[in-house]
Amino acid sequence: MKVFRCGDVVPGCERDFLGADRDDILRQVAAHAVLDHGLPTVDPDLVRQVEENIRDV
Ligand SMILES: [Zn+2]
Repeated sequence: MKVFRCGDVVPGCERDFLGADRDDILRQVAAHAVLDHGLPTVDPDLVRQVEENIRDV
């Protein structure tokens, strides 16, 4: 499994995302970024930041 902590990219956010692989995490984070952080879309820079902070668990 892999985990991404949103707080690593957005200070103060407490959400963690567990996923089977990178695509699984990115799908969840994309929905969270739009719904909870009000981003209009998920741009390549955000994807890069998420990928850099995904850890194995
Ligand atoms: Zn967040």
